[in-house]
Amino acid sequence: MHNTVQQLKILLAEDISLKDDCVWCQEAILPVGTRTKYNAIVIFRIGDSIVNGWFATLSPQTGGDHQRDFTIQLMTLGHFSHFAQLAGNPELAKNYGLAFSKLNAAMTRIMAEEQPNFKAISSTREEGVAVAVYGKTTTWKEKKEHLHLKLFPFRGDLGQPSIVDSTFGKKQIHYDPLTKEEFVKMKPIRKTKITERRLCQLAERLHEILH
Ligand SMILES: [Zn+2]
Repeated sequence: MHNTVQQLKILLAEDISLKDDCVWCQEAILPVGTRTKYNAIVIFRIGDSIVNGWFATLSPQTGGDHQRDFTIQLMTLGHFSHFAQLAGNPELAKNYGLAFSKLNAAMTRIMAEEQPNFKAISSTREEGVAVAVYGKTTTWKEKKEHLHLKLFPFRGDLGQPSIVDSTFGKKQIHYDPLTKEEFVKMKPIRKTKITERRLCQLAERLHEILH
């Protein structure tokens, strides 16, 4: 037990200074409106230091329909690596809530604006606006990364049930006689580029809504 407490203490007090070998630490210093090395656009910043700040980028590609869908990535300014670390930093946690809600509202608004028959409560999937969020953290060194979450429209190929959804558990189970393993079917996801024009329009609209 003593070891667990000690290890948790180490986890919660990790060094969050910007790292030279971390792509997101390099992006954290970029102002809103600029491009990252990977052509994502910085669309949002909140907080005034690596201790309490977050920033968000608009991805230049999507796994969904490149004419309609888009992905926003939300990251801490500092090199945090575990959601648990927010608990020791109330300002960071507060700014997370603000950033998360604003980005969700902005994405929902753009999807609603681009949907002719949008309804707050719709009787069909097509007239509704669904947004999903994905993020994970670990203490496993090999997979330990700068804290980040992805927000994306939950529709088309991106709208497939996630492993935590009850609909995933209800999927038909198949058996592969070669590997002697069970599996369920999912549609493949292929990332495609969003056109430069669409990317700029999205970034501009997001900026208008968020600022
Ligand atoms: Zn980092």
